Formats: sequence, C-alpha cells, structure tokens
Amino acid sequence: MDDRNREQKKQNSIIQGTSEAAHIPEKIPTVVTTVDPRSNEEDLLSALYPFGQMIKKSGVVAFPTETVYGLGASALDPKGIEKIFIAKGRPSDNPLIVHITRTEEVFDLVESVPEKGIQLMKAFWPGPLTMIFKKRKIIPDIVTAGGDTVALRMPDHPVAKALIELSGVPLVAPSANASGKPSPTMARHVWEDLEGKIHGIIDGGSCAVGIESTVIDMTEEPPVLLRPGGITQRMIQAVIGPIERDDQLDEIDRGNSGDEKSELPGKVRSPGMKYTHYAPRAKVLILRGKRKKVIEKVLELEKTYRESGKKVGIITVDENLKEYEKLYGEIRDQACHQACDIKENKGLSPGAEDVSNSPCIRSLGSEKEVEKMAANLFAILRDFDQTEVKIILAEALEDREMGYAIMNRLSKAAGQNILYVDEEDRS
Ligand code: AMP
Ligand code: MG
Repeated sequence: MDDRNREQKKQNSIIQGTSEAAHIPEKIPTVVTTVDPRSNEEDLLSALYPFGQMIKKSGVVAFPTETVYGLGASALDPKGIEKIFIAKGRPSDNPLIVHITRTEEVFDLVESVPEKGIQLMKAFWPGPLTMIFKKRKIIPDIVTAGGDTVALRMPDHPVAKALIELSGVPLVAPSANASGKPSPTMARHVWEDLEGKIHGIIDGGSCAVGIESTVIDMTEEPPVLLRPGGITQRMIQAVIGPIERDDQLDEIDRGNSGDEKSELPGKVRSPGMKYTHYAPRAKVLILRGKRKKVIEKVLELEKTYRESGKKVGIITVDENLKEYEKLYGEIRDQACHQACDIKENKGLSPGAEDVSNSPCIRSLGSEKEVEKMAANLFAILRDFDQTEVKIILAEALEDREMGYAIMNRLSKAAGQNILYVDEEDRS
C-alpha cells in the first residue's frame, strides 16, 4: 500500500468514527460526460442535470473552470465536503474556496464587504480572483479549516456556472488533483488522479488560464496578496491602490538559506520540502540568472546527470530552443515522449537513432505570450510523469505579471530547489 492509500484509509476511519458514518466505498464508479462549453445554456443545463443531482446527494463532481478543474461539493454540506478531503488526500487544515454565480449571494455568506471588495468584484468577477472576507455562520467550519474567514470566487466558465445553478447552492471547489500533484488543466488529469474516488467528471476541454486564481485577503487594510494568479498585482492596484504581499510569498520565490544537503550539484538553497506542491515524480531544480549562463549551466548539468545514467527533463522557452538544438538537434514538441517510448520498447527499428538518453526538452511557449506559458505549465509538469526523466531543470522566468504566478508554482514544485548561476544577481 503506498503512502497516499494509507493516508486515505486513515482519513476514512477517522471520518467514519467521528461523523454519522459517511460510508466511503473502496471504489466509486466515476461517471464521465463530455460537453462543449460553447453550447447554449439550455443544452448545458440538460447535459449537466445528473451532476447537479449528484451534488444534491452529497456527491463530488469535477468540472472545468477558466483556471483549473475544480472538485465540487455543496459548500453547505459537510458530508459532501468530507469526501473532497478524502478523495484528494487533502490536509484538513487547508481551507476551500466557495464558488458562486451571483454577486448578491456574497452578502448571505459573509459578514461585510469593504468598499475595495466591491470595486474588485466589479472589475474582475466573473474571473480568476478569489477574495477573503469574514464569514457568516452559514459556512460550515470544514470549509474554512475552523477559521473565521471565507474565500469567495465567481468563476467565468459556462460549465462551472451551469453546475452551480443546477446544484442550487454555492460550491466548494479545490483543484481536482490528488493533493501535492500539479493541478489539472484537462479532464484526463482528473481521471489519472481521482478515477474511482469521485462521482463524476465533466470534460469541458482545456482550461484557458491554466493556473489557480489569485487570492487576496480583504479583511486586512491594505489588502494582502496571498497567492499570485491570473489577475496580477498590477491589475488589482490599478483598481484599489497599493496592496501588500504576504511575507511567505517572497520566501517561496527566493528560496531561503538553510539546509544545503542535496544530491543536486552546485549551490542549492533550501530544499524546503514542506512546501512541495504541484510536484511531478522527478526532482525539479530551478536555475536563476542571466540567460546565457542559465543555458550553459543547464547543458553542463544535463551532461553530468546523463553520464551518471539519469535522464534529464528541461523546461525552457521558445526563444531559447535554438541554443539546445545546436547540441541536441531539432526539438519537436513531444519528441521526448517518443524517445521514452522507444526506450520502453527496447527494440529499435532498423536505422532508428537511439535517442533514449537524450534530454526531454519542453518549451512553455514564447516569452511574448506569458499567459499561454501559464496555461501550459501544469500539463508539461504532468507529462514528465509519463517519461523516464529523473530530474527536471527549469529555467526561471522573469518575475513580472503572470511570470510571477508561474514562478510561484514552479518554486513550489521544486520544493525551493533554486540554483543561482550568477551570485551577483541574487537580491
Ligand atoms: P485550492 O482550492 O486547491 O486552489 O486551494 C485554495 C487555497 O485558497 C488554499 O490553499 C488557501 O491558500 C486559500 N484559502 C482558502 N480559504 C482561505 C481563507 N479563509 N484564508 C486564507 N486562505 C484561504
Ligand atoms: Mg490545489
């Protein structure tokens, strides 16, 4: 039994022992439906009707939003919410976001909304912005991890809206992945992690934003950014003036000095594994510094690992691909997976080059289109799990706008393994 199963068994028995026996069968038949989000509202409502019924019966259903796939249950039904924590293996001290479709609902759920909250709702809802307010009693403690605040968001996706309408209640919807894995941006990611553990999956295609919502705490003055996302700090400040950043955010992004014990070569700061999240199976190392030096270091490390029998993954950007092509030849997207397939099959076809040992190189996209890079990030991290890659070398992006949100997720995936290739750049 692996650790996740053991943890799930433990959580099952805790819940069955303490609550009115939410009976959790070993394996739930997971119903999957594919819908076209561009369908008219009436068609969507009729296609999704059975999933609304599942939620009404305390079931859990994965559905697309514009950020990532969410795992939905009624926000007013602790029995359904318990099932989310079990299915994901999510620690119970990690609070959930409540999703609504109408602004008026906010006032039933929270004590008060400051003027700046109203301004942000007008500017960014529906959309990838989550705001935290003082909660009303109607919100069960399990949603907020016992705290007195609640996080609210209005998603901008026709499928999410239709499911909330059909359920007749606000929905809690954490990302629909197994805790610790990269968030799902396609229905197949949800299937990989949660098949047999949840009641339904609504496949509505890929998620446009691709990383989770921005989270801002509106109970503080000035408000505090807790998680960067699709709505950037600059966009928020353009509406409500200066906000602050949570101290922990910059700690995650810089890495901090501490444990230098690591099997990774060079000077690696703080592999603070307690922060690991969004993590593929392979170890992730971020390389920060000037472009030329980063690429030189990636090439040097790749060679060292290859010579010790470890296959390397490289995360880069379109603008840098030519530097790798000089050494490794033309890089076609997905080429690494073909290489790994060849390795799996062992028997190479006559004349085929044995590329099994060459690195798997994936580009997030062009630096000119940082939003597209964000949308690709999690799928690329997950794809490495289908390969033999043991270590992923990721070039750092500029910490601006969506780049800041991408680096926040990458830093967590790397458990803060960050290599500064030119020390003078480290602020
Ligand atoms: P996920 O639903 O997986 O995107 O995670 C939701 C995240 O929102 C949590 O991990 C918290 O970081 C944040 N969050 C939700 N509710 C609260 C709250 N009441 N106070 C602070 N952060 C919250
Ligand atoms: Mg999550």
